[in-house]
Amino acid sequence: PTIRELLGSGDRSFSFEFFPPKTPEAEEVLWRSIREIEQLRPTFVSITYGAGGTTRDGTIRVTERVAQDTSLTPLGHLTCVAHSRDELRSVIGAYAGAGVRNVLALRGDPPGGPTKPWVAHPEGLNHAIELVELVRELGDFCVGVAAFPDKHPEASDLDFDARMLAAKAKAGADYAITQMFFGADDYFQLVDRAAAYGCDIPILPGVMPVTNIKQIKRMAELTGMALPTAVTDRLHAVEEDPAAVRAAGIEIASELCDRLLEGGAPGIHFITLNRSTATRQVYLNLQGTTV
Ligand code: FAD
Repeated sequence: PTIRELLGSGDRSFSFEFFPPKTPEAEEVLWRSIREIEQLRPTFVSITYGAGGTTRDGTIRVTERVAQDTSLTPLGHLTCVAHSRDELRSVIGAYAGAGVRNVLALRGDPPGGPTKPWVAHPEGLNHAIELVELVRELGDFCVGVAAFPDKHPEASDLDFDARMLAAKAKAGADYAITQMFFGADDYFQLVDRAAAYGCDIPILPGVMPVTNIKQIKRMAELTGMALPTAVTDRLHAVEEDPAAVRAAGIEIASELCDRLLEGGAPGIHFITLNRSTATRQVYLNLQGTTV
């Protein structure tokens, strides 16, 4: 099924994001996690698209295996980074050949990370909206896009960013998934701002439980944004005790998911970092059970 159809069913959507592994050991961890997540019968699972050549092949390979060997619906991410238009066409063709009809159309970040200036490939695309159009042109795909409750680092203001999201929806995006964030109100304000520009596609909030102190810095590098002190204070208060940090991270994420769902979010997209235990625990907290 397409994610458009799944989101249209009226049921809350629960999805889980993985990245393509770089070593045989990481591959094993990934598949163990995917099998555990499969038991929860999520709406879909997504596989990120990396900056380097090897992980790019890995994205297609993992997505294809999910499509063929599991009962899960895969969503393949795709970015414009370092690709010509022709290369993008061939990756989209590879997704179609692998039986993958759900694609998340992203611009991507420059190789140095989200704080570096964006440079398009000379024969490539400059913005995700062009990739939405390209994927749409090439066949019967269901297309998702990114959204940013805390504002994209390059956007001049929140309103501009919401206008760009509305433009992506108008160009054919069926739904959006947000960058990870911690303030439920920031998510609801994004939904309202986008609606003011006529954008009524489902916007799935992206949630990642922080399970160790090192991740605080890593997440700021990945998203280009610092974590709010309300979150870091709770984690630092127990930093001598790794189990307590983990428990606090799971609790913070569970509270956020509760507020989002109570406020009408259409579901939750969990960022797993390929380890299933923390996100599974948050998911089960929402259902009132434990791992
Ligand atoms: P765009 O929509 O092109 O937006 C980029 C910036 O340009 C924004 O500031 C926007 O406001 C502005 N803008 C947009 N359209 C226009 C326009 N027409 N004219 C002028 N300005 C415009 N990165 C990866 O490398 N691999 C992944 O797998 C990956 N998965 C992600 C999944 C999710 C759910 C999210 C939220 C992000 C993901 N990213 C991934 C990161 C993402 O690629 C970066 O955040 C990137 O900087 C922005 O991508 P975008 O698709 O939002 O780009």
